[in-house]
Amino acid sequence: QKTSGNAALDPLFAAMRQHHQKVDTGLIERAYRTAEHFHDGQMRKSGDAYITHPLAVATILASLGLNEPTICAALLHDTVEDTGYTLAQLTNDFGDEIATMVDGVTKLDKMVYGESAKAETIRKMVIAMSRDIRVLIIKLADRLHNMRTISSLRPDKQIRIAKDTLEIYAPLAHRLGMNAIKWELEDLSFSVIEPKIYSEIVKLVAERAPLRDQYLSTVIEQVKQDLADNKIKATVYGRPKHYYSIYQKMMVRGRDFYDIYDLVGLRVLVDTKRECYDVLGVLHARWRPLPGRFKDYIAMPKFNLYQSLHTTVLGPGGKPVELQIRTNEMHKQAEYGVAAHWRYKEGKSAGDEINWVHSISEWQKETEDSGEFLDTFTEEIAKN
Ligand code: GDP
Repeated sequence: QKTSGNAALDPLFAAMRQHHQKVDTGLIERAYRTAEHFHDGQMRKSGDAYITHPLAVATILASLGLNEPTICAALLHDTVEDTGYTLAQLTNDFGDEIATMVDGVTKLDKMVYGESAKAETIRKMVIAMSRDIRVLIIKLADRLHNMRTISSLRPDKQIRIAKDTLEIYAPLAHRLGMNAIKWELEDLSFSVIEPKIYSEIVKLVAERAPLRDQYLSTVIEQVKQDLADNKIKATVYGRPKHYYSIYQKMMVRGRDFYDIYDLVGLRVLVDTKRECYDVLGVLHARWRPLPGRFKDYIAMPKFNLYQSLHTTVLGPGGKPVELQIRTNEMHKQAEYGVAAHWRYKEGKSAGDEINWVHSISEWQKETEDSGEFLDTFTEEIAKN
């Protein structure tokens, strides 16, 4: 396999190869060298060379499985805005698809930059997305890396950015079904906005984890045994609890830390939809389900196309256990959301785009009352 002459690119190529063996390294290297050349001499607040940022953003996207054009656009995403490289040059060097994405990110940055209200910002993002939903996916990865490296900023700036992240970007990630990014954005923002409470919860979790893990492994063993007895091949594991979601449940529902944290969640992944219902049957036969807790998001997916069976059963010792049962494919959708549609081999599907645009528009309507504008907007997209 061809390796790059530039060791800086190895983690990026490794992330891409996790999803696809044939990576167009030549194109990626060219995009990297161009970005490196134009950002030469620029620094991040951390003191790192600026190029480390677009490279990190590209690597985040590669780990989500996005394909070459998106990775190139990520590498080049700040060039037109912050360097002498022009959009015309970029189009000439890399073609329309990549140039249009970079232009979308640049325009988005300009719009979001003004201190406008949350609803207004979201409205602008919806417009920006009309060009290509990948623009928003790049923007989310960009924000994620900025949040990961936020400690080099002034404290007041950190808080402002973390609040924006929590109010705009995390909900956007949820809307796009990109759960893996959503929870990390939330936990990072939470640690900046409420550092004391955050470390208190981290401490409580660390103290309690061994006891919880012990119970969890008992449950997992039993589930594996039952599924093996029924000849169902499955992956079974404990669902991680994120700090911000614990905090929210404590604040919003006024519940005790231990009640929230001790409630274990289990995930069962299988190959087929049919097996999901088989697993449900097996586990409802093993443990009594709690009334009103069964949800069939497979038959009725959520707005962001999330699919799964949810149920809560009374596990060993009569303790409630939350179960999520889904296929491996549904799991990808649950973690990566719309990004899953832009992975290797899967070309752009107009139908999917329209669903997403529709879903975002619905959300927009909930956020502010500008329905008329959005109706027109959705129709425009549908026509294209
Ligand atoms: P319900 O009460 O069973 O409908 O579920 P909740 O809304 O309380 O969510 C419970 C858990 O289900 C969450 O912590 C997530 O793990 C999962 N979940 C629910 N909605 C989504 C979604 O839209 N995307 C993803 N990835 N997970 C979700």
